[in-house]
Amino acid sequence: MILNGSNIIGFSDSRQSGESFYAVNPKTGQQLNTAHVQATISEVNTAAELAESAFQSYRKLSGMKKAKFLETIAEEIENLGDSLIEICMQETALPEARLKGERGRTVGQLRLFAQLLQEGSWVDARIDFANPNRQPVPRPDTRQMQIALGPVGVFGASNFPLAFSVAGGDTASALAAGCTVVVKGHPAHPGTSELVGRAINQAVKKCNLPEGVFSLVQGPSIAVGQAIVRHSLIKAIGFTGSYRGGKALFDEANKRDEPIPVYAEMGSTNPVFILPEKLKQETPAIAQGLKNSIQLGVGQFCTNPGLTIVDGSETAKEFEQLLSKEVEDLVSATMLTSGIQSAYESGLQKFKDKTTVSSLSQGKKGDDETQGVPELLAVKGKDFLADSELEKEVFGPSTLLVQTEDDKELLQIAKNLEGHLTATVYGTENDLKANEELLAVLERKVGRLLINGYPTGVEVCHSMVHGGPFPATSDSRMTSVGTAAITRFTRPICYQNYPEFLLPEELKTDNPLKISRIINGERQ
Ligand code: NAP
Repeated sequence: MILNGSNIIGFSDSRQSGESFYAVNPKTGQQLNTAHVQATISEVNTAAELAESAFQSYRKLSGMKKAKFLETIAEEIENLGDSLIEICMQETALPEARLKGERGRTVGQLRLFAQLLQEGSWVDARIDFANPNRQPVPRPDTRQMQIALGPVGVFGASNFPLAFSVAGGDTASALAAGCTVVVKGHPAHPGTSELVGRAINQAVKKCNLPEGVFSLVQGPSIAVGQAIVRHSLIKAIGFTGSYRGGKALFDEANKRDEPIPVYAEMGSTNPVFILPEKLKQETPAIAQGLKNSIQLGVGQFCTNPGLTIVDGSETAKEFEQLLSKEVEDLVSATMLTSGIQSAYESGLQKFKDKTTVSSLSQGKKGDDETQGVPELLAVKGKDFLADSELEKEVFGPSTLLVQTEDDKELLQIAKNLEGHLTATVYGTENDLKANEELLAVLERKVGRLLINGYPTGVEVCHSMVHGGPFPATSDSRMTSVGTAAITRFTRPICYQNYPEFLLPEELKTDNPLKISRIINGERQ
């Protein structure tokens, strides 16, 4: 497939504005050749109108047909072959192996949603049969299931150019739910976005679906994203990125005459608590594992362990020295954009300007400007507790080591935490039994609680929660990874006294789809 830099509005290549923008190779600082055309508000409007008109029929498609569509998207992405990986490497500086892995995750995600649709029970069907003889009043026939919300706006993330971008988790779950989608591609990888967008539209055509099931608008202007959120036909938003961006879009959506849900995943610092007995038993292994987790993907993961909490023991001092050495041996690598690199540097500098924070060690800096140098910072527990800024995400390969005086201080740190995506506790059975209160406190702070592991690496599966209380996300009841992400784009509807012929298959009395349902209060 050839790149032409157009926006993809339904089945048309669209180039209304005269304004072009270019992707930049973060490794070389060179602009790439393709002139991408910035979308206009009128193109956003057309995309939303097409999405609404396609929604009328797409939402009624059977689970089997939607599953076939998702599988076809996966095949079309695979059919892009190496050209997708090559352009993505140029636009993001991410290594080939990582991008091939991410492509596998992206198509795997689409296929997992396809399986969910084939199985069918996700609609959570509930039936209460009528009881005309009930006293004092008869009971009506009521039947409930989840239905699609409407056209959805999706914002592609910079740090997962495939798995959280044009055909990523937000798009896959919205299409699975029966929603049509308008994507705002991330301006750091427009060529990757265009190729994947074309693959989706190819699948739309192959499956004989209506024009408008999918559109892609591009551009580095926030006006394009704002226009999607403000459009009255758009009924929900999926976003992954910065707190600033996510919160701005959330506020924008709430200013609408008809406010809509914004599912914004805005990152977090993912505290890691290391308890004393475990630390004593496995000091070098924990230091090495933590170093790997900090450096993974040049720290550009929302699950990067940005906070590490230890006690003030001799073992903890030994751990500090080992971790310092591990970080010192790391070599810097190119970050996704020069903006992300400078935000990383200035975020670290802001911390280092504080008299309470010290830099324990730094990795080695390479040649190119856009590299993020790994760094280990440290602060005393009492100073951390007195300065809420230190809990904020510095997106990149660093961690802040918090040295606590005693168990009470450690617990207080947990109690003071704001919402995060994950928290990790390292502990032996004795440690964990002695710290049940810590675990109970952390349960209220995060979406995923790990014992003796690393927060990076989010499994795509049925039980995953990639979410958490504000400010990690804008809605702690939801997940943006795993099949449970589908319910972000659905709502329940109840059909009362509906004749059989009008009921959706999922709610017909003889259960033609053979799905699991709750009948008169019993799971069947
Ligand atoms: P971003 O600045 O939040 O941008 C993400 C997307 O949202 C882009 O398409 C951007 O469009 C759009 N956007 C941002 N603010 C907007 C606004 N006020 N109105 C409308 N659209 C808006 O994220 P980024 O460019 O990926 O990286 C910047 C920082 O975000 C990083 O340094 C890091 O701190 C954080 N980040 C977090 C995660 C995470 O996993 N949670 C992932 C990636 C990045 P424009 O580019 O056109 O403005």
